[in-house]
Amino acid sequence: GTAHGPALPRYVRVNTLKTCINDVISYFKCHGYTYLGRARSIEELRELSLKRGKRFLQDLHVPDLLVFSPNTDLHKDSLYVEGHIILQDKASCLPALLLAPPVGSFVIDACAAPGNKTSQLAAMLQNKGKIFAFDLDTKRLATMSTLLLRAGVTCQELANQDFLTVNPEDPKYQKVSHILVDPSCSGSGIPDQMRMLTDKEESEHPERLEALSSFQCRVLSHAMRFPSVQRITYSTCSIHQQENEDVVRSILEQNSHFSLLDELPSWPIRGLNTFPSSNCCLRATLSDTLTNGFFVAVFHRQKQDELSKL
Ligand code: SAM
Repeated sequence: GTAHGPALPRYVRVNTLKTCINDVISYFKCHGYTYLGRARSIEELRELSLKRGKRFLQDLHVPDLLVFSPNTDLHKDSLYVEGHIILQDKASCLPALLLAPPVGSFVIDACAAPGNKTSQLAAMLQNKGKIFAFDLDTKRLATMSTLLLRAGVTCQELANQDFLTVNPEDPKYQKVSHILVDPSCSGSGIPDQMRMLTDKEESEHPERLEALSSFQCRVLSHAMRFPSVQRITYSTCSIHQQENEDVVRSILEQNSHFSLLDELPSWPIRGLNTFPSSNCCLRATLSDTLTNGFFVAVFHRQKQDELSKL
């Protein structure tokens, strides 16, 4: 850590396609780590994040997540190399967790590469059903194929395609009930040392933010056009209201048949209070939740009777 506060803990997501949490806990115990049990508060994560050492906790919000001290490096560990664990920030585990597709369902991952969230979705589906995953970037998609292979994911169909050009009326997508929307954003929630500083000014320029927010709105609107979609998560690793609450508010105004779900009520930081259901949105920050800066909202299609009450 620094003199200014906690450093980001290292989060380890257990890949339940290949192993289970108890086996991973036993593995680390055998390798000289002390298991401190399941955290009961974010304060326990904070304590861990202030110290060095071979100790770890189970997370309190994300069931298959373990939490290690910031100085831990598991990139060379055989569990990582063999795809039994995924090194994924806690906040970025929330979109798939809250999308919660039942085993066997049909899912779209609209902006999927490099695929950490896709692999988490596949684990939730137990590789049953289907994930249609799209990305524009060929290189990132290639990385994604490697990652999914290592993670034992078999239920995906990858396409190097602009999600905005995917036809919602195509019979192929008729059964799609869940969509994860994690579009390009300014990345302003990612610590500076992990980004290129030259990128920073450019990616947070007002005109750039406006372009991003309009793109994010288009992707979300497009997701809402799939005929059977019931639930959609929207997420960014941005701290800007323009890319977060403003996008959600504008989408809700244009799509009265969707509303926000109040998920994870125990999460301490909610959306900025800029519209009536903003409290349903989740925000994440290093100082409050010991994660990267992040934003998540969960939309669901209102049932006919809920609508007629309006
Ligand atoms: N969900 C990914 C994960 O968890 O690993 C991270 C996604 S990243 C924030 C956004 C991705 O959107 C980038 O890989 C980018 O190439 C892709 N993208 C941008 N515009 C797109 C579009 N119109 N259609 C599909 N993908 C797009």
